[in-house]
Amino acid sequence: MAHAFDTLQERFADLQLLRYEVPGFAQLPLRQKLLVYYLSEAALLGRDILWDQNCQFGLQLREALETIYTHYDGPDDNADWQAFKVYMKRVWFSNGIHHHYSYQKFQPGFSKEWFVERLQTSTKRLSTNWSAKTDEGLQNPLSIVRCPLSTIVELIFNPEVMPKRVNQADGEDLLLTSACNYYAQGITQAEAEAFYADLKSKADANRPPMLGLNSRLERKEDGSLCENVWRIGGLYGNALERICDMLGKARQYAENDRQRLVIDKLTEFYETGDLKTFDEYAILWVQDTEGEIDFTNGFTEVYGDPLGLKASWEGYVNIIDHDATRRTKALSDNAQWFENHSPVDERFKKKQCRGVSAKVISAAMLGGDFYPSSAIGINLPNSDWIRAEHGSKSVTIANLTHAYNLAAKGSGMREEFVIDEKTKQLLDLYGDVCDELHTDLHECLGHGSGQLLPGVDADALKAYGSTIEEARADLFGLYYIADPKLVELGLTPNSEAYKAQYYSYLLNGLLTQMVRIEEGHQIEEAHMRNRALISRWVLEHYPEALHITRKDGKHYVLVTDYPLLRKAFGELLAEVQRIKSEGDYEAARHLVENYGIKLDTMLHKEIRERYRKLNLAPYKGFVNPKYELIKDAEGNIMDVSISYDEAYDEQMLHYSQEYRTL
Ligand code: ZN
Repeated sequence: MAHAFDTLQERFADLQLLRYEVPGFAQLPLRQKLLVYYLSEAALLGRDILWDQNCQFGLQLREALETIYTHYDGPDDNADWQAFKVYMKRVWFSNGIHHHYSYQKFQPGFSKEWFVERLQTSTKRLSTNWSAKTDEGLQNPLSIVRCPLSTIVELIFNPEVMPKRVNQADGEDLLLTSACNYYAQGITQAEAEAFYADLKSKADANRPPMLGLNSRLERKEDGSLCENVWRIGGLYGNALERICDMLGKARQYAENDRQRLVIDKLTEFYETGDLKTFDEYAILWVQDTEGEIDFTNGFTEVYGDPLGLKASWEGYVNIIDHDATRRTKALSDNAQWFENHSPVDERFKKKQCRGVSAKVISAAMLGGDFYPSSAIGINLPNSDWIRAEHGSKSVTIANLTHAYNLAAKGSGMREEFVIDEKTKQLLDLYGDVCDELHTDLHECLGHGSGQLLPGVDADALKAYGSTIEEARADLFGLYYIADPKLVELGLTPNSEAYKAQYYSYLLNGLLTQMVRIEEGHQIEEAHMRNRALISRWVLEHYPEALHITRKDGKHYVLVTDYPLLRKAFGELLAEVQRIKSEGDYEAARHLVENYGIKLDTMLHKEIRERYRKLNLAPYKGFVNPKYELIKDAEGNIMDVSISYDEAYDEQMLHYSQEYRTL
């Protein structure tokens, strides 16, 4: 059934909120709808964990801001109020006071006096309402007393206090200078590294657990360090208990025994916090490939920890997209062929590429670190030995990509930044299909390819590890998207199409991704560092293939030799794989520091100005659909409805109320 679906939701600051549609949900049998429903509830219940992980005062701060937001009764055109609304929406988007991508603290556009006055009037009103509400057993909404008002004020208004969520500046103490809440205040980087080096020396070297993954590192009274583990009965216990509750309900509707085992193991992990159990769970999860509905729920990605050990909480639920999955299956069925033909040294290749399962899915719910800003491709688990022995599951999320593409149509980006009409036509023809294919290659094959040499520590690249790993997967995709094998498999329409991906990738890496970074700042985020690294390395090493040129006073990317670019990507892939396989920290540092971080001030300024004129939002995120149980008069569940009309602020307030766990 064709119908208009309004993708655009709301636009403010550097953000745009989109809606995504969940195709096929309405046609699912009730049993599967209920599975999606309860898994979605579990995905939403971890939200507070992430807020606390991002900043130790995050939850109190959210409460203070929301109190003002919901109780404001002054004129709407008040300048402080207008600025406050934008600030509130940005904080929601970032799950905290630091930008979700640059990690810099937001600058409030409203005055301190206005804020304090509003907070005091709003909380006063709340306390009056409060006495009437206590009987209903609601939680005291004034838990901000747990953290004094002065702390909240300092946090919002003093730019010196917690200026950055994740600091990765070479040479600084990354823990003392990062605001994230994974390490108690005062613990130095050297102390934490020594603590985990010691744990690692005692752990199984062949099948190392993900040490540090699920705990906050704290200091005991005697000064020594210890882990406060995130588990039921421990830190975040209340949230995890409620998640397990929903997982238990979802279990009744599991599609098969394996999925039931996955849920049981995950519950056991949340109960015990035992990292061995976590690995067992990850293995079961990798093996669960038969169902149509799948989910991730837990402590997963480590980008938010400057040391790359501690995982933020995320949850999502998805439904398989059968048609598009045929595309990724063609890749994974040929995984060994791609591994064998890659330009990396034989010693670093996997002799047996195991079960790179690849699916195209539709997101049905986004939660935790997946919301509202979401990835469009995921490859898990992150444990290197599990990937080597059991493979990994890889997904590309078609309905989110579709929403992005719809939003991008007519944005004017291509008209402004692509060098000539011929290249623009190339992008119009092949841009979307090649972009999806590159994501598939990155996720299905790239991350799963290659192996560490025996005895090499998976964390040897330390703070540079994430960037190098993303570069490896991207380069694998860039190298192969130009391979005749893809035409043969029917994945690219012809031997020219890859050029669209080469051009748009390099344009992004060299110029347009800069629009996301404020002037005076450098590149921080691992994926962005990786794109800059690859593009600028090629620019320096292959001047006969790639240039930045000036036309009418503006800079453009000019490609003069596409086949030679493929050679360049292959050469860099071989080197990046060597760095990873050998754990060559110095080489990783050199690559990232030289090519991945610094911006040319004048060029940055020019690109930002050209972009500003287009009046677009550089970052996008999603508003979730809403599922509701439909019951008959006796209370029997008859159906699960899906609706898309919740507004962004409505959804955020709804989540703060309904899924409040900490
Ligand atoms: Zn990746």
